[in-house]
Amino acid sequence: MYYSSGNYEAFVRPLKPEGVDKKSAYIVGSGLAALSAACFLVRDGQMKGANVHVLEKEDVPGGACDGLYINDIGYVMRGGREMDNHFECMWDLFRSIPSIETPGVSVLDEYYWLNKKDPNFSLCRATHKRGQDAHTDKKFGLSDKGAEEIMKLYLTPDEDLYNKRINEVFDEEVFESNFWMYWRTMFAFENWHSALEMKRYLQRYVHHIGGLPDFTALRFTRYNQYESMILPMIKYLEGFGVSFEYGVKVDNVKFDIQKEKKVATAIEVTRDGKKEFIPLTENDLVFITNGGCVENAAMGSQNKPAPFDASLHEGGGWDMWHRIALQDPSFGHPEKFDYDPEQTNWMSATVTTLDDKVIPYIKNICHRDPFSGGVVTGGIVTAKDSSWLLSWTINRQPQFRDQPKDQCLVWVYALFSDKPGDYVNKPMRECTGKEICEEWLYHLGVPMDEIEDLAENSCNTVPVMMPYITAFFMPREAGDRPDVVPEGAVNFAFLGQFAETPRDTIFTTEYSIRTGMEAVYTLLNIDRGVPEVWGSTFDVRDLLHATVALRDGRPLNDGSMGPVVDAALKAAMLKIRGTEIEKLLKEYHVIEEPEKKDVQTVIKDTVTDGVQKAKDGINAVKEKLPKNAEEAKDLVAENKTALAAGAAVAVALGAIAHLTHKKK
Ligand SMILES: Cc1cc2nc3c(=O)[nH]c(=O)nc-3n(C[C@H](O)[C@H](O)[C@H](O)COP(=O)(O)OP(=O)(O)OC[C@H]3O[C@@H](n4cnc5c(N)ncnc54)[C@H](O)[C@@H]3O)c2cc1C
Repeated sequence: MYYSSGNYEAFVRPLKPEGVDKKSAYIVGSGLAALSAACFLVRDGQMKGANVHVLEKEDVPGGACDGLYINDIGYVMRGGREMDNHFECMWDLFRSIPSIETPGVSVLDEYYWLNKKDPNFSLCRATHKRGQDAHTDKKFGLSDKGAEEIMKLYLTPDEDLYNKRINEVFDEEVFESNFWMYWRTMFAFENWHSALEMKRYLQRYVHHIGGLPDFTALRFTRYNQYESMILPMIKYLEGFGVSFEYGVKVDNVKFDIQKEKKVATAIEVTRDGKKEFIPLTENDLVFITNGGCVENAAMGSQNKPAPFDASLHEGGGWDMWHRIALQDPSFGHPEKFDYDPEQTNWMSATVTTLDDKVIPYIKNICHRDPFSGGVVTGGIVTAKDSSWLLSWTINRQPQFRDQPKDQCLVWVYALFSDKPGDYVNKPMRECTGKEICEEWLYHLGVPMDEIEDLAENSCNTVPVMMPYITAFFMPREAGDRPDVVPEGAVNFAFLGQFAETPRDTIFTTEYSIRTGMEAVYTLLNIDRGVPEVWGSTFDVRDLLHATVALRDGRPLNDGSMGPVVDAALKAAMLKIRGTEIEKLLKEYHVIEEPEKKDVQTVIKDTVTDGVQKAKDGINAVKEKLPKNAEEAKDLVAENKTALAAGAAVAVALGAIAHLTHKKK
């Protein structure tokens, strides 16, 4: 397997790999990673569909990408996917998956046209004081020190970040900025999560830094991702005759580990309560989705809290990975990720509005009609003063193809499930759907005496607790996740969020799909490049743009960097004068030409500034008359600038007098 970029390899079909007709594949799981592995096996590997077996413990495919209507409970989506135009493996795949909505077009065509016609952006990113616009106004609000901390992390080698937490590399300068509010609510990072992953994210999405505050960076599917992504993949695979076996728990995979060679020899499964062995030869490939961010996810209902049960069961993604990991050090360390669900859980809830009573409060914040069919909130809205750190979003309606036209689906989530709410005064994890809805309505600004009634009669809310949702963000080091294809592996690979692939970032659809592609291309030796992770971190234009964006548009030469750096900058600017570098820096507003002023304006500005500083100095001296020489010395030292300004004013006034006199 090798990486490539550019058009030459993007559109070609690889030759059929040698010996593929003798091979078969067993895929553990049916999430995005597993389904994409199956798609790449049949599309690029040209393996017979009948030789591909998907083993899934649940009774529906899709894993984390769900979207369900459950009788007597209601609509539920555990999550919604923010996506990017540079999900390179994903778009490589979805260009080939036919849409199930529009005959003759691909899922990619459909998605591209939709997001071109109806681009995403938010009109209110955050609220406070119960539904009032918090006016973050696209600003990051970082101090120079905060921006420096981010730059420093960006440039720190991976090894120096092993097992480190974000709160070891950032302090209040970052944590108290809008930047951190945007970042942690958008990507679900907690202050105690991995500094290494934070760095990877910064590098991976450096091209989007400017688009973070208002979500112009994002794109969304038409419906929930189960309907817009999973169902088309299933239909495509069924067309090849791929077999799907649901309700089959993979308890373990057995390996023969030799010095130079590792071979998977059997899969242990439980089917209908009975244990079975699937024996394997070197021609039987096994693709294992290990761990899992929605393992142990549990649903509540309008009148029932979602249970928080993090215990690991046989046949679950974590238990299976523990058993596999015991067999070889290169199979990773699941205990680095699943040891403390208190650090890795959060909750979401799907609110369905049942009448039009809540809609005006929504419109008041997002300034769009939820029933227009187009972008509504344009990404999450965060109630930044909420104790749960609650955010909510409304994607294009309907979110389900069969959703009644007068109902609106809202996705609510909060990062702190253990903190009492501001209205319900209970931790989210103890709340029923109705109570979570009350807390949301409170932060929307619904009058206090209407909240309970609206939550009870105008909405139906289904909560979900996900104990391991951010397990992949736990501090880690090299080797904690197995490589997609570990060294010496002959017939097996790891897939998904807990397999290691360089440079890409977890908690994304792309990451899972990339692992599927890399696994298949490696094990079948497919002779075509896998698209490399988008290389914006190596593109000087993106770096320049991000530098200025983090400073809320201020150029570097605005005189704010301190005397030493400012002087160095001035010297550097002289050196690059008239070169392509100067042109580039100006184009990206990294440096700006000081405003050209005529002599009189310069003198006027100097005098005004000087007069002000002198006044400040005189006031300071007046307030604190020195009692002795020592105090007088201190006072002069403290007010050096003001006194110098006074002197400058005197000189400037003298110069003006002189010039005027000469003119006469
Ligand atoms: C709430 C939420 C929000 C998200 N937001 C975004 C976003 O904004 N943008 C974005 O790009 N991505 C987002 N994601 C991430 C993305 O959806 C996931 O990364 C991706 O869907 C994971 O796919 P996967 O195949 O790697 O794993 P999973 O979807 O977890 O699939 C694993 C599958 O394996 C099965 N399995 C596990 N163990 C066994 C076993 N022993 N035997 C049989 N079957 C087994 C599981 O049942 C499951 O079906 C979000 C996910 C969630 C949950």
